[in-house]
Amino acid sequence: MKIAHIDLSDASVEDFELDATALKLFGGGRGLGVALLRRNMFDGEPLEPRSPLAFSVGLLVGTPFPLSNRLSMVFRSPLTKTVAWAQTGGYAGSALAGTGYAALYITGRSEKLSYLIVSENGIKVVEAENLKGLDAVTTCSVLKSVHGDARVVAAGPAGERCVPIATVVNDMGRSSGVRHGVGALMGSKNLKAVVFKTPKNPPVVVKDHAWFTKLLKRLQEKLRRSSLLNHDKGLLALYGTPVAAEALGRNHALPVKNYQQTYIEGFELVGGRAMSSKNLLNRLTCSICPVSCRRETTGYGVRTEGPDYAQISSLGTNCMLLDLEKITYLTHMCYELGLDPIEAGNTIAVYSQLSDEGYVRERIGWGSFETMKKLLHDMAYGVGDGAVLGRGAHETAVYFNNPDASPSVKGISVQNADPRAEPAWGFINAVESFGGGVHIWVYPRLIRSFDELNVNTIYQDNSPTEQDIAEKVYLEQVWVAAADSLGVCAFSRLAFTPTDYVDGVNILRNLDLTVETLMDMGKNILAAERELNNLYGFDSTHDRLPRKFTEVEVPSGKHAGKKCEISRLLSLYYMTRKDQPISKLLSSLPRLS
Ligand code: SF4
Repeated sequence: MKIAHIDLSDASVEDFELDATALKLFGGGRGLGVALLRRNMFDGEPLEPRSPLAFSVGLLVGTPFPLSNRLSMVFRSPLTKTVAWAQTGGYAGSALAGTGYAALYITGRSEKLSYLIVSENGIKVVEAENLKGLDAVTTCSVLKSVHGDARVVAAGPAGERCVPIATVVNDMGRSSGVRHGVGALMGSKNLKAVVFKTPKNPPVVVKDHAWFTKLLKRLQEKLRRSSLLNHDKGLLALYGTPVAAEALGRNHALPVKNYQQTYIEGFELVGGRAMSSKNLLNRLTCSICPVSCRRETTGYGVRTEGPDYAQISSLGTNCMLLDLEKITYLTHMCYELGLDPIEAGNTIAVYSQLSDEGYVRERIGWGSFETMKKLLHDMAYGVGDGAVLGRGAHETAVYFNNPDASPSVKGISVQNADPRAEPAWGFINAVESFGGGVHIWVYPRLIRSFDELNVNTIYQDNSPTEQDIAEKVYLEQVWVAAADSLGVCAFSRLAFTPTDYVDGVNILRNLDLTVETLMDMGKNILAAERELNNLYGFDSTHDRLPRKFTEVEVPSGKHAGKKCEISRLLSLYYMTRKDQPISKLLSSLPRLS
């Protein structure tokens, strides 16, 4: 496998062969991206041209291993200033892997708006002035019509304008896993899109066919037996990721009214079952996946993908909007503008609270469809207060003189669940390298409400002590980092074990991993992220939840009176977690600056 260093300033492309040692130490995907950033340390501002943006794929992407399809983006976030990564499914990751590249490391700034074509025959930088100002969804469809069998990741107007909460869309949707302002980074490089040409002959070598056939049968049987992932009967397959909103709703754990409450009457109206009966058009899937949990929906004249669980809780319950079709429309609007729908929704919720409390002049109320449409537009184009809101929930609260309205950790908002109802959830958001913004389905074992969804949570058979929670959060982080470096969908971990992945990597990528070395890989990745953050000016004193969760009690419902106090958990966590210096491990990676 290769890495390409693309310098947009002079449109140069240089290929480097990737050493097997580096793959064993950091994997691909998130791990490879983080290791490349650490190896080629740049500590200037995230939107400076030299600031790198890595697109990478995990070790199993491009192979027939089920649910292995994630495309990773790794960068220093313009929103949080920490290291950040994003994982997105669909087909782009498999297309990139099929070209033989494990990672694209992009630096510099094009003189004119450009896009990249990545194919088996190499990488080209192409002028894209004709795409200037075009929305991200249309950009994808224009480039797909030009390039035929291709997958496209594109920025919208918000990205071109370097709005800090700008994102990218992947094949016209799927921006939910992509937070931290990657669209702004694309804009800072004058890079409108990346086109991944689907390869004709993906280069996958199966070391031992008989063994692989046996493994595949084992994995397929596990998917069939899963009460979440079975194609016909699994809860995620039948109702999509919004099934989470129902479990959280029943357990009074949703973000409601900018996290001022944890329960909202009528939450079922925006759950997965409601979607199935109201506005579902089709079930969609990603490459190499029999589950099909993605949703094609309609709302107010748009046909789109989603909303998923995260968009429902941010644009929906947190803004007191319980109309699925309206949430669908607003989600699609975010795709077009190239705005992170989660941060956008949570920022509107902050703005509504500020308006209620008289910190802003305008009285905007809660959940007004017309107001929300206008605010999304204004964020993307920097109109009026939209110029502030485009900097995210935290900056909005600070700018309007009420930082206590912020629901953010390190400058990015917590999503999906209220930490006071789900304390381990609050804690993981505090200690994750990229700040808030952790996805609930990436850490489902930490969510008490998911007991009822048959997830094997850390709460199921006992009442964990604080020591247990601190240790388990770290172990989950290690495991998630390792899985992210394999490029597998987070849902696959609900059915497969570490041994399953290790067998897959060894057969399909000809490596000799063990479960232990896989977990070491996860530890290396976490250590590299900490080192990057230290060099960016962050340390453990930044691992804090906002006062909204630590000092304000839940006003009513099942969790009335609760706060999420994590100081003791933090000290237990840092007693458990001992990162090793990783500089020696980086020598197998190329210098790309
Ligand atoms: S389970 Fe859902 S998100 Fe995961 S790979 Fe399959 S369709 Fe994509």
